[in-house]
Amino acid sequence: MVGGAQTAMQERAQRPERTSTRTCVGCATADGAEGMVRLVVAGDEVVFDLAGSAFGRGAHVHTRPDCIARAPRGLSRSFRREIRVSAPELGAALVAAADRRICGLLLAARRLRALAVGAAAAKDAIGRGAPLVVVASDAGSVASTLEVTRMIEAGSAIAWSTKGELGALLGEQSVAICAVVHPGIAEELVKTRAAADAGATTAKDGAGWNRSPEAR
Ligand SMILES: [Zn+2]
Repeated sequence: MVGGAQTAMQERAQRPERTSTRTCVGCATADGAEGMVRLVVAGDEVVFDLAGSAFGRGAHVHTRPDCIARAPRGLSRSFRREIRVSAPELGAALVAAADRRICGLLLAARRLRALAVGAAAAKDAIGRGAPLVVVASDAGSVASTLEVTRMIEAGSAIAWSTKGELGALLGEQSVAICAVVHPGIAEELVKTRAAADAGATTAKDGAGWNRSPEAR
């Protein structure tokens, strides 16, 4: 019996360093951490920890609308108490967290001089191999230039925010496009944008899940 307990303890101690696998609170499937986001539960509040730096007991969820929609029930099960959050609330919280994270990533890129702001600078940066462009949703003709069209077709572009908001973030009146030169930040931006999309879908459609017979 003692031997059995010891083995269990050893297994528990070894588990974290074996892989970076996480179990999704939505679909209960173990998977690589890359396609997931971290949630932290603090009291009755559920917070998305997209930078991975928040303290507290966390859980992971796939950035897929159906997994996010199932997460409230999964969180309650995993924390062994009722976590009072609805699927649409969780979706909206993810959108807000992703927006904040994208702002932070763009500012970080600028601090590292890895952000080419405006059409002319972005065009130069694309020519020099920039891995990603961020295009304001109301960018207009800037989004249909040859360089930008190629980036969009290659999946190397994300649409985000508006010219005015992007400008306000970067201290200019209006910014329709910027190119991200830093590969790590570019990758994180793409991942975060996908998380925002999944959150938006859940915020819109999530109510359907709450009406399922199992939940009521
Ligand atoms: Zn999942």
